[in-house]
Amino acid sequence: AGMPAAEIRRRFLRFFERHGHTIVPSSSLIPKDDPTLLFTNAGMVQFKDVFTGKEKVPYKRATTAQKCMRAGGKHNDLENVGKTARHHTFFEMLGNFSFGDYFKRDAIHFAWTFLTEELGLPKERLWATIYREDDEAFQLWQEVTGIPASRIVRLGEKDNFWAMGDTGPCGPCSEIVYDRGEEFRCEAETCAIGACDCDRWLEIWNLVFMQFNRDETGRMEPLPRPSIDTGMGLERIASVMQGVASNFDTDLFRPLIRAVEELTGRRYEEGEPGFPFRVIADHARACTFLIAEGVLPSNEGRGHVLRRILRRAVRFGRILGIQEPFLYRLVDTVGEVMGGAYPEVRQRADYVARVIRGEEERFFRTLDQGMAILAEVIERARARGDGVIRGEEAFVLYDTYGFPLDLTVDAAEEAGLRVDREGFEQAMAVQRQRARAAREVAEGWDPGSPLALALADEPATVFTGYERLEDEGTV
Ligand code: ATP
Ligand code: MG
Ligand code: MG
Ligand code: MG
Repeated sequence: AGMPAAEIRRRFLRFFERHGHTIVPSSSLIPKDDPTLLFTNAGMVQFKDVFTGKEKVPYKRATTAQKCMRAGGKHNDLENVGKTARHHTFFEMLGNFSFGDYFKRDAIHFAWTFLTEELGLPKERLWATIYREDDEAFQLWQEVTGIPASRIVRLGEKDNFWAMGDTGPCGPCSEIVYDRGEEFRCEAETCAIGACDCDRWLEIWNLVFMQFNRDETGRMEPLPRPSIDTGMGLERIASVMQGVASNFDTDLFRPLIRAVEELTGRRYEEGEPGFPFRVIADHARACTFLIAEGVLPSNEGRGHVLRRILRRAVRFGRILGIQEPFLYRLVDTVGEVMGGAYPEVRQRADYVARVIRGEEERFFRTLDQGMAILAEVIERARARGDGVIRGEEAFVLYDTYGFPLDLTVDAAEEAGLRVDREGFEQAMAVQRQRARAAREVAEGWDPGSPLALALADEPATVFTGYERLEDEGTV
């Protein structure tokens, strides 16, 4: 019941088009010309150079529904997935953008009008957050929307100040929060915006006011033509519009959850027992979209993030009792739900399914043995009594059985244990060094020769996954 997600997406784009915005297609999940950024993680990514003035476009206002990925890199929601009702690895961000055209007043007005008139949300459920020092926004919210001062919350830099990088455009944000109601109150002593992190206070829309330019010395100068960048999570607003308690109960996820029910013969439940279902549904979408865009499972960079997500889904499938490759069978369902807006997932469904199946089969070869070793390792950590899985143990699971670190971390957490991540990194570094030395010996290299030096500049192809990932930042 309620408004379908596809209808919300359509209305959003049309609404902003009516207000002078050009509808621009979603860009790829893989940022163009930006090796520093693992994945597109917000609507503004494709407009980065437009905001700085480096790139010219024939419009001053744009609107998009953007494919986003927040796994690996600085914005990493992988471990939130299925635990909160509102985080995914792959999700869609609806956005409107002003390139030196309208600013705060209109941005607030548009967002408010869309939510309360176009979607008809009750005003008294909506709260606004502002950046601590942004008195202008404090005034505007009251003037433009009539929100009382008591429902405007001042937050600090972490939540409500945005910057493209250490230097460059930056500015305060304002967010719109939907109050799901008293019955969603959490256990925290103060369940309030900014104080707890529960699902009662649902952040739906972030309005970024690009107002300053920061230079090397950290000084901020007002931009001559300030800009607007906003982002609203489609899955979240869909949960509100469909009157359900979780993104996973919306029409974007129900068909996937149902498909997992059919594969396992088990029933989905909310809360803890439904956790593996939610993870699998989320990861099926992420894997499908990444592979449709040409990413392949590998040991480094983007391919490694894909491998981690895919193998994590497989392990949760195993937890639900599935004994054979299954994830590839969800690709068609992803296509049914998402193919209208993103035809590529339908067009490339066969290819995507083949890639997923191949990787599942590869992982299944070592999965049983790996699970047995994992159980032993957990036993040993318990016996030691320090509650810690050693770095070398996690590394053996990674190196010999293809268990990405977060998979071992998941299992450890389920058993009430911790993993020594630093020790894992060390074991990885030792291994990498050994591999390098072996390669040099095998190829009879003088490591100081011009050829060896030239080759050393090339990205290594072995065991660089985690190191590369931790290094890679985002906007
Ligand atoms: P949160 O605090 O809930 O993690 P955020 O502040 O990190 O969200 P923003 O960077 O402000 O999110 O992104 C803009 C909007 O995109 C959010 O207001 C939310 O609606 C949506 N969003 C962000 N992260 C996710 C995610 N992992 N899954 C689904 N939607 C998301
Ligand atoms: Mg976040
Ligand atoms: Mg937030
Ligand atoms: Mg935010």
